[in-house]
Amino acid sequence: MIYLDNNATTKPFPEVLEAMNTFMSSRYWSASSPYGQMDGLDKIVESATCSILELVGGAREDRVIFTSGATEANAWAVSEGMRRAKGRGWALSSEIEHPSVSETIDYYHTKELPVRHIPVTRDGVIDLCALEAIVDSDLCFATLILAHNETGVIQPLREAAALIRKKSPECLIHTDATQAIGKIPIACEEVLNGIDLLSFSGHKFQGPKGIGGLILRNQRGEIQPLIRGGGQQDNYRSGTLNIPGIAGIGVAAKKNSDFLHHNQQRLVLEVRNQFEVLLKSSFPGVIILGSSAERLPNTSFFGIPDINADDLVYCLAAEGVAVSKGSACASSSIKPSEVAGLMRYSYDEAVSLIRFSASWDTTPDDVVEFFSVLKKHKLVP
Ligand code: PMP
Repeated sequence: MIYLDNNATTKPFPEVLEAMNTFMSSRYWSASSPYGQMDGLDKIVESATCSILELVGGAREDRVIFTSGATEANAWAVSEGMRRAKGRGWALSSEIEHPSVSETIDYYHTKELPVRHIPVTRDGVIDLCALEAIVDSDLCFATLILAHNETGVIQPLREAAALIRKKSPECLIHTDATQAIGKIPIACEEVLNGIDLLSFSGHKFQGPKGIGGLILRNQRGEIQPLIRGGGQQDNYRSGTLNIPGIAGIGVAAKKNSDFLHHNQQRLVLEVRNQFEVLLKSSFPGVIILGSSAERLPNTSFFGIPDINADDLVYCLAAEGVAVSKGSACASSSIKPSEVAGLMRYSYDEAVSLIRFSASWDTTPDDVVEFFSVLKKHKLVP
């Protein structure tokens, strides 16, 4: 399989599997038992927490609460934000949030709990002028994605947070950082200054599936627990800790930090650039969404005129090349990408869109293979 769908999920590093195996097979104790503690399982949690904070450039005081992934972390952050806004003010989101955010927002959105959505520009960047125009002191909660899962466009969150804070200093601000973490250095202190909550997910950065979390940063008031019960994770999310998952995500975070520290993302960018150069030379009419904006180095969301995305994705899959039509959640549905419509692309353009997403292990040969399948099927003019 030539795997070019890394925004959907990634292949775990061998070291991740090794770490997990230890805690599945031999050290399977509960972390809160006396022998679990003697065996140092709490140190595994501590070390994974440090590795995650290092990966995002967080501070030592920031807290990491592990969840089953970003969907759960997003649901927690949004329900906390909406709880705070209810009866006191309103909430803000963008039009391009992942369904785990947008559908949770829709669930809470009522007349008593108003929500306003910020549109995006033609390049898929949240419109800061629109944001500035509507923010007022009654804004209690804002949730804005950091990097979009389909376009890869990186949002100007530092600027957005500064605009929000100017008028509503106590507003709780959340970002779904799931696609950005592990692909670009985030440096909370500088880039995300002003963000209170960040969601992340292990399987997006070569860690295990079923583990992710919410990072609690500047504590603006007490956050309600997500799940009550046994009191694990300082009462924020009860339930026996998923030590294999936590060990695995810790190893993945550490490896990603090392790659980013050595600027390895430039190699991923080279592969993406090679892909887009070949794309443009093979199909002069190709559209690449968000190409003038700042994007994740691994992502290309493109459409070839007169080629239907469904047909091409299946044709490539039959030849062992994995790409997708966009977000994994939507890729089995026949609806075209919503974000394309919000960026004012036509229906015909939207139904042609395919997402290429590379990873650390994607090679120039993988790109060549992609184009040889197109040639074999006489799709390259
Ligand atoms: N947010 C974004 C931006 C995502 O791309 C995804 C995964 N498709 C999620 C949230 C959900 O993550 P998880 O699979 O960990 O629940």
